Amino acid sequence: MSRTIIVSNRLPTKVQRTTEGLAFQPSEGGLATGLGSIYRADDNVWVGWPGLFVDDPSEQQQVTERLQADSMAPVFLTENEIHDYYEGFSNGTLWPTFHYFSEYALYEQTHWEAYVATNKKFCRAVLELAGPDDTIWVHDYQLLLLPEMIRRERPKATIGFFLHIPFPSYEIIRVLPWGARLLEGMLGADLIGFHTFSYQRHFISAVSHMLGYPNQSGQIDTPNRPVLIDAFPMGIDYQHYAETAQSEIVAQHILAYREALREGRIILSIDRLDYTKGIAQRLRAFEALLERYPAWRGQVSLLMVVVPSRDQVAQYQHLKEEIDELVGRLNAQYSTITWTPIHYFYRSFPFEELVALYRLADIALVTPVRDGMNLVAKEYVACRTDERGVLILSERAGAAQELSDALLINPTDTNHVAEALNEALLMPEEEQASRMGHLRALVQQYDVFAWTKLFMDRLAYSKIKQHIYA
Ligand code: UDP
Repeated sequence: MSRTIIVSNRLPTKVQRTTEGLAFQPSEGGLATGLGSIYRADDNVWVGWPGLFVDDPSEQQQVTERLQADSMAPVFLTENEIHDYYEGFSNGTLWPTFHYFSEYALYEQTHWEAYVATNKKFCRAVLELAGPDDTIWVHDYQLLLLPEMIRRERPKATIGFFLHIPFPSYEIIRVLPWGARLLEGMLGADLIGFHTFSYQRHFISAVSHMLGYPNQSGQIDTPNRPVLIDAFPMGIDYQHYAETAQSEIVAQHILAYREALREGRIILSIDRLDYTKGIAQRLRAFEALLERYPAWRGQVSLLMVVVPSRDQVAQYQHLKEEIDELVGRLNAQYSTITWTPIHYFYRSFPFEELVALYRLADIALVTPVRDGMNLVAKEYVACRTDERGVLILSERAGAAQELSDALLINPTDTNHVAEALNEALLMPEEEQASRMGHLRALVQQYDVFAWTKLFMDRLAYSKIKQHIYA
C-alpha cells in the first residue's frame, strides 16, 4: 500500500529540554489539526524539525523513537543550519521578498548554500521513508527546492506543494538572484497550491517570464510533465472555535474582562510581531479616530496583543521599539483617570482567553500590509456565534478574497481605516448580524478539513490526468 508523507520545516510536536528530561508538546496550530487525520492514519508520517538541537546520537535515538510512535520522523538540524537556512535564507531573504519588503532582504551566498544543503537533508529524510509510488505533500517557503529534489530520485511519486505565504508579482521575484532555481524547485511537484487566485497568477507569470514554459487553464507544461497550479484558501477548525466560544470557561473569562473594562467598547488587534502586519499603521489609525471623532474618547479602547516573534532579527527589534513608543505616546496623550485608550500585551494568550477576547470585541481590526491568508480574521468570525461584532480587514490579506462581507480597507490609508472604525462603531445590530452570518457560513463551510480534502483530491486528480494524457 502506498503511504502519504507530509513534510514541513517544523513538526507538529515541539520537543523541549526540561529539568525532568525531554518534553514533547503537541502543537495546536491549524495545519497540525487539518493534517492530523492524514499523517496519523495507516502507515503515514510527518517529516520535520522537532524544534530542538540534539547532537548526542543516543538522545537522537530517543527522540526518533518517541516521535515515531506518534507518526512523526525528525530531521535534526544544527545551530548553523538554523542560523543560515532558517533565519538567514528563509526568514531573512524569502519572507521579506515574498511579502513585498525586498528592501529588507539579504542576499548572502552562504545562506543560499545552506538553504540548498538543508533542503537536501530533508530530501534524504523523505527518501528513507518514501517508496516509488508514495504521495508526498511538501509545505511552505522553507522547502521550495524539495519537490524537484525528491522528483529526481522518485520520478513516479505523487508530489504536492503548498505555499502558506503570498506569491508576489514577477517584478519582485526577478529581483531574487536565485529566483529561477526556486521556481524549478517548486515545479518538481504535480500540484502547486496557493491561498488565492492572485498568488497563483503571479506564479504562472513568473514561470512564463523566467523559464519560458507555456501554460493554459491553470496548468504549466514543463519539458518533463504537466504541473497543475490552483488556489486553495486555507481554513480553520471552525467547530473548535465555535464550541469553545460558547463554553462555560470562556463565559467566565468574558465576565472578568467585562468587569475590568466596564461599559467601554473594544477594538481588538492580534498579531505576531512582524513588519508585514501593519501594527504601527493600526495605531496611527486609532489615533486618527480619536482626533476626527473626539466623542469616542473615553468610550472606546484598543486591546492590542502582540505575540513575540523572531526577536533576534534587527528589523523586528526596531519594530518593537516603534510600537512601544507609539503606544506610550498615545496613552500619555489621551489617557484619563478613568480611561486607558490602549491596552497593550506583548505576549501570547492561552487558547480560551484568546477566544474570550474574540467574543468580547466589538471590532476586530486586522490590517496587515501583506499577509498570505490571516487566520485571526477567520477565528474572530468563527467565535461570533452570537452574530455580533464587525470585522475590519485589509484588502491585502489573502482572507479578503473570501471575506468580502467584512469592511475592507487599505491599511496605508489611515483616514480610510479611521472612517471604517467609526462606521463599525455605529453599525446597527441588524447589519452586524447580516454580515457576520454570511462570513460565518463561509468560514464554517471551507474549514481546514475541507481545505485538506480539496488539496488531496486535486493531487490525486493531477496524477490521473497525467496518465490519461501521457
Ligand atoms: N495566536 C496564538 N496565541 C496568541 C495570539 C495568536 O496562538 O496569543 C494564533 C492565532 O490564533 C492564529 C495564529 O496565532 O491562529 C496567527 O495566524 P495568522 O495566520 O493570523 O498569522 P501568522 O502569524 O501565521 O503570520
